[in-house]
Amino acid sequence: MNKSGILVVISGFSGAGKGTLVRKLMEKYDNYSLSISMTTRKPRDGEENGVHYFFVDHRKFEQTIAEDGLLEYASYLGNYYGTPKEYVEKQIAEGKDVILEIEVQGALQIKKKFPNTLLLFVTPPSGEELYNRLTSRNTETNEQIMGRISRASEEVEWIPKYDYLVINDKIEECVESLHNIILSAHNAPIRQQELIERLKNELDSLSKGE
Ligand code: 5GP
Repeated sequence: MNKSGILVVISGFSGAGKGTLVRKLMEKYDNYSLSISMTTRKPRDGEENGVHYFFVDHRKFEQTIAEDGLLEYASYLGNYYGTPKEYVEKQIAEGKDVILEIEVQGALQIKKKFPNTLLLFVTPPSGEELYNRLTSRNTETNEQIMGRISRASEEVEWIPKYDYLVINDKIEECVESLHNIILSAHNAPIRQQELIERLKNELDSLSKGE
C-alpha cells in the first residue's frame, strides 16, 4: 500500500461544474483535501475569503511568488491564480489525496514538477450546454461570458495532455467516475515505486537463497 497521498488536478472549462463536483467529492469521501488557491480576482457574491479563495491584491500575490510560496501560478482572464505550497505538501505527507482545481497552464506546470500528478479534465457534454450553464448562473456579464467561451475554445487544445477526460452530464455519476479514476490511479506503477522497490529487494534475496 502506498501511504502518501497523490496530487490530483481537476481542470475544465469555466462553467463545467468543477466547483460542485469537487464539493460533492469532498462531502462523500474523507480521503481528499482541497487546496484553496490564492487569487487577485474580486470575490463573487457568496464567496468567502479563506473558503473559496484567499483573495489578495497584486502586491501580496507577487510577494508570495518572490518568496517561493506557490507550487504553480497562472494568469487567467487578467487575474493571477496560484496554489499555496505549504498546505499541499503537508496534506500529501499525511496521506491525503490533494485536489487542485486549477486551469490548464497551472496543471501542466504541476505535471512537469511532479510527474506522478493525475490530470483530470471535466467537460459538459456539449458546447451549447456549457453556454447554457454559464448564462444561467447569472454571475457574469455577457462580455465576461463570451471571454470564458473564447478561453474554452483555446483550452480544448490542451485536453490531450490530460490523463482522463470526464463528462459532467449527471453530477452524481460524474462524482463516482472521478472517485473511481483516482482510486485506480493509486495502483499505476508510477505511483507504486515503493512497493516495486520492496518486491525487487525481496525477490533478489530469495533468488540468492537468502
Ligand atoms: P474562477 O474565476 O472561475 O473561480 O476561476 C477561473 C479559473 O482559474 C478556473 O479554471 C479555475 O480552475 C482556475 N484556478 C483556480 N485556482 C487556480 C490556481 O491556484 N492556479 C491556477 N493555475 N488556476 C486556478
